[in-house]
Amino acid sequence: MGKCTAITRGGGRCRGVAIDGSDLCYSHDPDHEQDRLRAARKGGKRGGRGRPSSELQRLKGRFEELADKVLAGEVERSDGAVAGQLLSGARACVRDGLAAKEQEELIERMEALEKSLEDRPTDRRGGGYVRF
Ligand SMILES: [Zn+2]
Repeated sequence: MGKCTAITRGGGRCRGVAIDGSDLCYSHDPDHEQDRLRAARKGGKRGGRGRPSSELQRLKGRFEELADKVLAGEVERSDGAVAGQLLSGARACVRDGLAAKEQEELIERMEALEKSLEDRPTDRRGGGYVRF
């Protein structure tokens, strides 16, 4: 295995080991860009890239592509039907994931709300009115 040929931000030669079939290391090879983004996403905050909405958008593209191919005769109707079912399954996963995530966020917000209510030094009898 060779050394990565990329130049680092500091201007020096990267010390990484080049991956197979490339003269760049894992972090410099553009083919691994997606993997890296995925890994970064996993460790990162919720939201941002890779949201279910963009996953659904991507699946929509696949459905359309598949439909075009079936209509153009590039894909057998039976193969297309099976692929469509599988894509449907993928869509259901994204959708369920989205619902779960919304629930989690809702619960988090409610807990934050409850906490802020508990923390607030309220006069429980007062109800917002000033009593004389
Ligand atoms: Zn490198």
